[in-house]
Amino acid sequence: MRWNERQVAMLQEMGIRVWDAPAQGDEVAVAEPAPAAAAPEPAPAAAPSPATAPLRGPRPSGVATMDWPALRDAVAGCTACKLCSGRTQTVFGVGNPQAHWMVVGEAPGEQEDRQGEPFVGKSGQLLDSMLRALGLTRGEAEPARQVFIANTLKCRPPGNRNPEPDELAQCEPFLIRQIELVKPRMILAMGRFAVQSLLRSSEPVGRLRGKVHQYQGVPLVVTYHPAYLLRNPEDKARAWDDLCLALEQMKPMDPAADA
Ligand code: URA
Repeated sequence: MRWNERQVAMLQEMGIRVWDAPAQGDEVAVAEPAPAAAAPEPAPAAAPSPATAPLRGPRPSGVATMDWPALRDAVAGCTACKLCSGRTQTVFGVGNPQAHWMVVGEAPGEQEDRQGEPFVGKSGQLLDSMLRALGLTRGEAEPARQVFIANTLKCRPPGNRNPEPDELAQCEPFLIRQIELVKPRMILAMGRFAVQSLLRSSEPVGRLRGKVHQYQGVPLVVTYHPAYLLRNPEDKARAWDDLCLALEQMKPMDPAADA
């Protein structure tokens, strides 16, 4: 595959090193992944003591018709699964609810649990680089350049273990409502649990990537989870292809895309 200088700069944002010198004009040849920069490990956060942990209760009713503030409150107070007892706080999501793009990840980790924001650890740094490579941000920008980031689970599983089926089932209505309210024009489903929730598929990510799926009429592209890419940097070039696929799909709706 060949890329121009602008794309090479994007690849470098993602930590993908381009190994061939520019050939003709400003084009260059194949890219190979570079190891991700290591970030210092934070000190472990203390789990709430049994005395302060919330008691279990039913999931708030009426999630399917809630507006954004009510949904945020409902997530914050949710005690519907066992994860409520170990959390520091819930992690609702981040970004403009009018964003044109939505990223769906897995579950908060330790730093996310502590800060109340998704993807703030090492995989978050990689995610931000990937988004920047597409000209997107979780921060301030016009909605066409913004991403709302959410997870399948709003509470941290202990020790960062995988989400369990009952936890995913209890949390799913929150994600469904978030997507209904954001009305994204593109969903990036990152990793197996996002894919399972949104596409109801147990196929591996590697088999589902490379095409545009639909979630409730919204185009959805499957790609590797940033944490997986940190462990398997050789797949970063494939993730880049997935991001390009999503960008291509969005171009007809974005008059500024080629500017
Ligand atoms: N991984 C996720 O899937 N979500 C986060 O918020 C952090 C790490």
